[in-house]
Amino acid sequence: MTDTLAITNQKGGVGKTTTCVNLAASLARLGKRVLVVDMDPQGNATTGSGVDKHADDPTSCEVLLGQATIAEAAHRVEAGYDLVPANGDLTVAEVRLMEAERREYRLQEALAPARESYDHILVDCPPSLNLLTVNGLVAADGVVIPMQCEYYALEGLTALMRTIESIQRGPNPKLRISGLLRTMFDPRNRLSGDVSEQLTGHFGDRVFRTVIPRNIRLAEAPSFGQPALLYDASSRGAVAYLALAGEMLRR
Ligand code: ADP
Ligand code: MG
Repeated sequence: MTDTLAITNQKGGVGKTTTCVNLAASLARLGKRVLVVDMDPQGNATTGSGVDKHADDPTSCEVLLGQATIAEAAHRVEAGYDLVPANGDLTVAEVRLMEAERREYRLQEALAPARESYDHILVDCPPSLNLLTVNGLVAADGVVIPMQCEYYALEGLTALMRTIESIQRGPNPKLRISGLLRTMFDPRNRLSGDVSEQLTGHFGDRVFRTVIPRNIRLAEAPSFGQPALLYDASSRGAVAYLALAGEMLRR
């Protein structure tokens, strides 16, 4: 059965896209059939996977508007997963969907015929709780929440949890929290350790055991259009995301 995960946090710069691309590459390396759907108008998952976001091909914008299927929009990337790209057009789709019927279900409906082709579908959400993110949450079985262990991280979590609960009460009762993921972790930082403890105290085993360290290779790889697993397979970042994929498969 396909597992669809929305990678979500309304805070920008917490490692959503890095997690999406590197987890996709890791799952593909472990032999899984993986689709990434870029739902951020910034198109970072697209560029970071080596796909030209300004090409004339259909993107997630056309998919949401019902003008292209997932199969038509998906590109096979070097790291061995498929990717539906995004660019600034996605903002247009969001505005045009505002008034549309079943606007929250567009991604879910588009993914339905593609599910058979994939073991894992990862949706890279934008840094806000807008209609694009809602489409991701409605289409998903689980939410992965990347977060940096800093004071304000916990504050934003409350709003995100409320959004998730309202999706569970409404359009997607089966939505679960797959896990909170500690990213850009620096063990030398006291505050990181404290926040990490609070997090595990509060969310228990919903916090992934795997911790993603701050690692320069993860930051460099996107400019080469590659996940760290291709750019530098032995880097601590690449190894950490492989471990995360393993943890997910065991769960
Ligand atoms: P988001 O998608 O949540 O906005 P990104 O994944 O784009 O966040 O990450 C924000 C920035 O931090 C990017 O420049 C990215 O390369 C960098 N980054 C993400 N994770 C790590 C990490 N573990 N170590 C070092 N840099 C990271
Ligand atoms: Mg991003």
